Amino acid sequence: MKTKFIFVTGGVLSSLGKGLASASIGALLESRGLKITFQKLDPYINVDPGTMNPFQHGEVYVTDDGAETDLDLGHYERYTSVNLTQDNNFTTGRIYHSVITKERRGDYLGGTVQVIPHITDEIKNSILLMANETDVAIIEIGGTVGDIESLPFLEAIRQLKSDLGKDNALYIHLTLVPHIRTAGEVKTKPTQHSVKELRSIGIQPDILLCRTEQTLSPEIKAKIALFCNVEKNAVITAKDVESIYEVPLFFHQEGLDDQIVERLNIWTRAPRLENWIALNNTIKNLTVPVRIAIVGKYIHLKESYKSLNEALFHGGIANHCKVILDFVDSEEVEKEGAEHFLSEVDGVLVPGGFGSRGVEGKIASVRYARENLVPYFGICYGMHMAVIELARSKAGLVGANTTEVSPNTPYPVIYLMSEWFDYRSQKIEHRDQDTDLGGTMRLGAYPCRLVTNTLAYESYQQEEVFERHRHRYEFNMEYKKPLTEKGLILSGISPDGSLVEIVELHDHPWFLGCQFHPEFKSRPMSPHPLFREFIRASLEHSQKK
Ligand code: GLN
Repeated sequence: MKTKFIFVTGGVLSSLGKGLASASIGALLESRGLKITFQKLDPYINVDPGTMNPFQHGEVYVTDDGAETDLDLGHYERYTSVNLTQDNNFTTGRIYHSVITKERRGDYLGGTVQVIPHITDEIKNSILLMANETDVAIIEIGGTVGDIESLPFLEAIRQLKSDLGKDNALYIHLTLVPHIRTAGEVKTKPTQHSVKELRSIGIQPDILLCRTEQTLSPEIKAKIALFCNVEKNAVITAKDVESIYEVPLFFHQEGLDDQIVERLNIWTRAPRLENWIALNNTIKNLTVPVRIAIVGKYIHLKESYKSLNEALFHGGIANHCKVILDFVDSEEVEKEGAEHFLSEVDGVLVPGGFGSRGVEGKIASVRYARENLVPYFGICYGMHMAVIELARSKAGLVGANTTEVSPNTPYPVIYLMSEWFDYRSQKIEHRDQDTDLGGTMRLGAYPCRLVTNTLAYESYQQEEVFERHRHRYEFNMEYKKPLTEKGLILSGISPDGSLVEIVELHDHPWFLGCQFHPEFKSRPMSPHPLFREFIRASLEHSQKK
């Protein structure tokens, strides 16, 4: 089958859940046996979100091939079986970068390089190349219709429908239908305006997803259909639901997948949604609470830890318990002490992070968890903190630190390796404190060998795993002896033996730190083994209290 394209745009305001809507559409189409893929087109000028502040952009999601991408790619992977790459996320910056590179090379043969056709052609090529050999490609356009920034993307998708033929492209527009309490009714005007805006640039939506608090009545749907020039059965209620994993089932009840396959003229089997139904039944019955503290820096913006929050929730699904998250500001821990924040929790997690702010609060949290036998899970920077804590408290290495925080520490237990063999590039890589900020991270999936009789091996039940990385600093092998003598177990190592990937302690119910980010590979249908085991240990801890 030739690839069919679904273009998802958003109107009225941001944060309506375009990413989740796109992911849910993918889940429904996959349940019908179709091979799908996704692409997110982001209108900002950064070449990728890697250098953006998590406060502004939310989480940077890392793919197997080491691309630093938009967090919506995390939704796409969690809701379906796809594994995405660099090609599944383009930004305006990346498109322009490529056009300007070609221009400098002389590829345009002296012609004037313009938004139309050069930028729009570049966008169209990125979409068509990525879609390679899939049945349906779901393309989500970031931003809100009416923004200046997204115009070239919208123009490109407008052209694509004529290029591909009307049976091969579908426009889905997500809008808001607010309920106005004082009037006691829902209002369709914002949707009408948003669709008008879209039509003014030549795009007539085929299907409207209307985000609302209540199910829309047939009268309201008819009114929206009339004013927006769509068919009545193409007006879909996108009602607020309890759990984000209910969205695919809700859309299915509204007839969305039927509408899509009919309009795109695709023959498929009936959707098999048993696993989604079972998942939602499990989620509805999660009652036993397990309280986990996340001690970090970006706690005021939950979007910064999107995959982490989901992975913890998946750990709860695996153990039939309801994970409650306490976001603890590590700078506050420095002021008030760890006990103040952690005495009531069942597990402590220190997530990834950068820079020196709040680091001592994280180390104090590790110490509290270690001494009070509270399950501890350290991810990336959280593993660094665990190694530093152990070095200081047990190995007598007073002042031990990571050179990221203290370049002149007497005991650089975590440091920047100047030279190392990189599995991904298959060559010797070099790094130093001055190398370009963007280019020096260890990014993407790397192999890790697991040592038997460890928490890591027990969790994965595998000898070798691949996990995704995003960091610069590493465990310093010079300190292997003093640390392992004091109980640190190196349970996951790179195949060449040079890089420490997992550390743990055994005089403790569950204490593990990993250099990679396991949260990126957790899915609701297959919770990540380390999250499953961390939550299991935390549940046990809560039952002992
Ligand atoms: N700042 C640390 C490093 O660069 C850890 C990064 C992270 O937690 N993702 O190595």
